[in-house]
Amino acid sequence: MQVTVEAVKVKWSGEKTKQVMDWGVKALRVYDVWKETQGEGVNVAILDTGVIQHPDLVSNIKGGYNCTSTDNSDYEDRQGHGTHVAGIVAAANNEFGVVGVAPKANIYGVKVLGDNGSGSYDMIVAGINWAIENNMDIISMSLGSNQGSDYLHDAIKRAYAKNITIVCAAGNDGDTYDDNDIDYPGRYEEVICVGAINKYMERSWFSSDGEELDIAAPGEDINSTHLGNKYAILSGTSMATPFVTGVLALLISKHRKDPTSKTPIDTPAKIREHLIRTADDAGEIGKDNFYGYGIVNPGALLKGVDVSALYVV
Ligand code: CA
Repeated sequence: MQVTVEAVKVKWSGEKTKQVMDWGVKALRVYDVWKETQGEGVNVAILDTGVIQHPDLVSNIKGGYNCTSTDNSDYEDRQGHGTHVAGIVAAANNEFGVVGVAPKANIYGVKVLGDNGSGSYDMIVAGINWAIENNMDIISMSLGSNQGSDYLHDAIKRAYAKNITIVCAAGNDGDTYDDNDIDYPGRYEEVICVGAINKYMERSWFSSDGEELDIAAPGEDINSTHLGNKYAILSGTSMATPFVTGVLALLISKHRKDPTSKTPIDTPAKIREHLIRTADDAGEIGKDNFYGYGIVNPGALLKGVDVSALYVV
């Protein structure tokens, strides 16, 4: 079974000498919560094509593993996709390049896709097992296939049982085949399934629709780190997925600093519940197949909503 990356186009944005904040980070005011946390102490496994030691990432790359060959220590990205995804999560907040959603999160580049951007479920399961054994907090998977596998689902269930939050791309099939175009593993109930929106806060034309969709995030024309220590603009639910991963890294980091918080997030189920409850509804009123529960709202998520207050009249 072939599994591929979920990105649709590449355009170089060149080498940056002065740091720019990409539109999604700006539009959803992610920077407002950086005074509380920048994702420090949270371990994020990016299951993708690997990652390069890009100057805008290197301070946050804490390790990695290659599941695609016997040379397990070689997790270098030679395709570019994994490095782009890593930058969306945690490009450093410095003087140059771009800045990630959680610019101090710990990045682990787990190479489960080969240099052509595709891989097998065997490799992905090996990556999930690595994440379980190495105490990851979040697994981010910007990949998918239109066929499921019990073998893959079992691995996801094991990670979920070990309190690892799993974030997956919805897929780039748009609204094509029927009422549900969500890819696997995005379809599995244990994962948080992410669709893409554009600069106008509208669903991207390519973003797969379906009832398993949980949440929407910026995924179109996204500027991030790429091969050759450069930057590139890519579009796909591949880009929306690490945005949500970064926001959840901020949430986990904040709650670890404040264990007395009223909204416990000690399981992936509670994290998901908190994420969808604080989302901004979009499209049809209530949950729908194009935006899920709505657009991720980092400010509301981090602030938390006191549930008891909702019943005061
Ligand atoms: Ca930077």
